[in-house]
Amino acid sequence: MNKLSVLFYLLVAISFNIYAEEDKATYINENRYEVKEIKPVQFSETPKNIILFIGDGMGISHLTAAYTANGGNLYMQYLRHIGLITTHSANNYVTDSAAGGSAIATGQKVTDGTVALDQDGIAIPTILQISDQHGKATGLVATSSITHATPASFIAHQPSRNMKEEIAEDFLKTDIDIFIGGGLQHFTQREDGRDLTEDLKEKGYSVFTCLDEATELTSGPAAIFTAPRHNSIYHERGDMLPRATKKAIQVLSQNENGFFMMIEGSQIDWGGHNNDTGYIIGEMLDMDRAVGVALEFAAKNGETLVIVTSDHETGGMALHGGDYEKGSVTAGYTSGNHTGSMVPVMAFGPGAEEFIGIYDNTDLFYKMINLFGF
Ligand code: MG
Ligand code: ZN
Repeated sequence: MNKLSVLFYLLVAISFNIYAEEDKATYINENRYEVKEIKPVQFSETPKNIILFIGDGMGISHLTAAYTANGGNLYMQYLRHIGLITTHSANNYVTDSAAGGSAIATGQKVTDGTVALDQDGIAIPTILQISDQHGKATGLVATSSITHATPASFIAHQPSRNMKEEIAEDFLKTDIDIFIGGGLQHFTQREDGRDLTEDLKEKGYSVFTCLDEATELTSGPAAIFTAPRHNSIYHERGDMLPRATKKAIQVLSQNENGFFMMIEGSQIDWGGHNNDTGYIIGEMLDMDRAVGVALEFAAKNGETLVIVTSDHETGGMALHGGDYEKGSVTAGYTSGNHTGSMVPVMAFGPGAEEFIGIYDNTDLFYKMINLFGF
């Protein structure tokens, strides 16, 4: 190749790259949905049930982007008690998802990468496990593998979030009533040769490998694996999260002592890491529709607190432009990783007023524990 053609290819490569970056910065939402009216009944004094949504990586800009893309309408607007939380971990101003999840799940700051273990390596009971001990039904739903850092923080105790097979084993040490998400391989194709779905069945679980198989399911315990590893991106997995939310509520609400459930919009974070505005918005709107399903139940039920929050911000996302009519958003990013900005907390239902103000992520645990009266 002569110098001129090298220059030519270089220019093509650079312009293609710039085009690709711009392409990821701007997104026009072609799939708007109508936000149905939620009419709440009279709420009880304190909640019998808590449905906690964690939008992994969801900061204020992610929320604004989704709000704009859906024409200024979100189910999350029904959560009118709003606060902000700090997200630092035991050893870092900018947390990872294991420490962020563990802080919310246990009320204690842990070291990045560890799952509900204190600095001495001792297991810290999680809100899910404490709820179970008090006779509540429990559930976990995620759009990642169910063994991934955020859901793991609520049920497992491991020194590393990467110990997926050990995390899968920890599911068997609990009496979780329903879990829905990817990660079947960490239960079935393991180094130790065990098939944990057999152990689950022995414990009385119904085990499914997709949501469609579980149509008839009305009571737990049940494990629904929706993917061998992580679930696919929002536009490939369809309405998995809203459907899983509905199914889990159906099963958990059978328990007369109430329930605790954590539902994760796992991939908002991955859109943030990729600095991909469309990915972020698609995942945000998917979680919002799942919030809509939870609100529909909570509004009729009157004893259910719905909380939507986040473990940290991802991408250092800022909005450079947008159009409510077109549903378009242009964003810029300061990071390919997490940042230390505060993230939102929004609440609906009995006890929702407890969640206003500025506080720490660990306080979420104590607020939920106090409202449950434990
Ligand atoms: Mg996560
Ligand atoms: Zn992340």
